Amino acid sequence: MKIIWNENPLKTQVFLDDKEKEEFKIKLKNELNEYGDQYDEELYMEYIKELEEGEHNGDCICYAMTCFKCQAEDMLGINTIKGLSKYSAGAISSAFRKNGKIDGAIEELRVPFSKEHERFQEWWIPHIDRWNKDREEAIEWLIVYNKEHFSKKENRRI
Ligand SMILES: [Zn+2]
Repeated sequence: MKIIWNENPLKTQVFLDDKEKEEFKIKLKNELNEYGDQYDEELYMEYIKELEEGEHNGDCICYAMTCFKCQAEDMLGINTIKGLSKYSAGAISSAFRKNGKIDGAIEELRVPFSKEHERFQEWWIPHIDRWNKDREEAIEWLIVYNKEHFSKKENRRI
């Protein structure tokens, strides 16, 4: 298994070799069997695609749908966004949509929600404290993530 960490943690890529793909397929078959479902080649392909080039998109970032990338990672016994709450993951998702780089996303997350925010709307008021807490948690998580996966390589280059 080869993991290529992406600056956007929701887009980390997981590549399986042929043997691992076969094992994954067997696991999927067994799992579907347990639920009385037939093996579905399309579903298998979808999981592989999600692992290789998908983006976390679903429950894990507070969208009311199943995240295929999480499901596929679960089946492999890995979690590339370990320790990240779905609320902070949601904040990270929107921060990266505005700025594709980790430093830029952290900058984006540092701008708190407030009445002075450029996009402020009245309905935000009861949510603002929670959102800002989620953003702070997201920043802390991203700083650790950045150190873990990127800073070391930069140091080596120097
Ligand atoms: Zn996910």
